[in-house]
Amino acid sequence: MADTSDVVIVGGGAAGCAVAYYLAKRGVRATIIEREGIASKASGFSAGGLNPLQGAVIPGPLGPLAIKSFRMHQEIWPELLESGVDFEPETISVVAVAYKESQVASMEETHRIFSEADDDFKSTWLDADQIREMEPRLSSGAIRGLSAYGNATLSSYRYVLALVKTVEKMGATVKSSNVIGVKTDGSRVTSVVLERGEIACESVVFATGPWSDQVESWLNVKIPVEPLKGEMLRMSLGDQPRLDRDYQGFGVTLNHREEGQVWIGATEMRKGFDDTPSAEARDVLMGGALKLMPALADAKLVLHTACLRPVTPDWLPIVGLAPGWDNAYLATGAGKKGILLSPGMGEAVAGLITSGSLDSEMERFKPDRFID
Ligand SMILES: Cc1cc2nc3c(=O)[nH]c(=O)nc-3n(C[C@H](O)[C@H](O)[C@H](O)COP(=O)(O)OP(=O)(O)OC[C@H]3O[C@@H](n4cnc5c(N)ncnc54)[C@H](O)[C@@H]3O)c2cc1C
Repeated sequence: MADTSDVVIVGGGAAGCAVAYYLAKRGVRATIIEREGIASKASGFSAGGLNPLQGAVIPGPLGPLAIKSFRMHQEIWPELLESGVDFEPETISVVAVAYKESQVASMEETHRIFSEADDDFKSTWLDADQIREMEPRLSSGAIRGLSAYGNATLSSYRYVLALVKTVEKMGATVKSSNVIGVKTDGSRVTSVVLERGEIACESVVFATGPWSDQVESWLNVKIPVEPLKGEMLRMSLGDQPRLDRDYQGFGVTLNHREEGQVWIGATEMRKGFDDTPSAEARDVLMGGALKLMPALADAKLVLHTACLRPVTPDWLPIVGLAPGWDNAYLATGAGKKGILLSPGMGEAVAGLITSGSLDSEMERFKPDRFID
């Protein structure tokens, strides 16, 4: 006999686990099915930056969901931290450093955006002396800097683990398995087929990240999500003082992380489903980092990561009911912002499953926008 679950969520990344969380808050115990381990893909290896004011189509059509999700993060963190998993949420300053006049234009844009945002965000211009005083290890010759305060950061791997621990306490379950198809009856999915066995369900959510092409064939709907490879280097500063801010320059960001680590990010390359770390990306990242902070030559490379962002043609996530289906939902395609957007996406899908309606502000993310 098949196992049963009211709601099956395929994919244990940030998107799937956030859907499980908001379902649990509504009293629905979901089953998350993950084939390679919770947060074993991009959700476990992202930079963990929560920047709601800037990015692809921000400001723009993604702006309102980005800021809403940012606020939702802050609201749920106290509860998630009760799980005992410290995902180290922190409000941060990001300091952009210009060495040429041509690099100042993007900083002026950031300054404008931060100045127009609410009082939680601030930005301050720095001159060469102030930059040197703030961080003497930066390359000399900086002409200007901009310190932007108000973004947040977290360990995305531990954030997803905290979501899972929290939902497990609320009755959700995690099953390790590869989903290979669905069984249907008319416009309803009746069960999710695993490599061994199947799970009957009332509803199913596909939060399969870049691997959403398989769902296209199961449901016969268009889900144009493509992988965008991203690589990062994790360096240990050893005995050197830790960084207390993030720094940007020469095409890289130095993310200050726990235990005195610096994470150098991030590349963006279209390489299909290839997620192996490459010498090319390592050289690009290390080259930029050493130009920005030569002292990193004495730091130790502890990990080189590579994984795939799920991106859509319009850089907007795909959230809602799969076209032509009564009980199959999509939560994918969050691109470079999937950790930030996860609460907004999760709440929207959970609300749609339990109440049947999607907030009007989420309409623009519906999967049917890709119907020809
Ligand atoms: C280098 C880098 C830096 C990033 N930095 C940031 C950042 O600073 N801030 C930010 O917000 N975002 C960032 N991102 C983007 C973010 O990581 C992604 O948008 C997000 O992790 C996507 O989450 P997801 O749950 O949709 O997909 P994933 O994390 O890919 O999860 C999908 C899961 O589905 C599982 N799955 C797929 N098919 C099946 C199946 N058939 N059966 C069972 N399981 C299945 C996969 O194994 C996978 O675990 C970054 C990404 C990269 C690569």
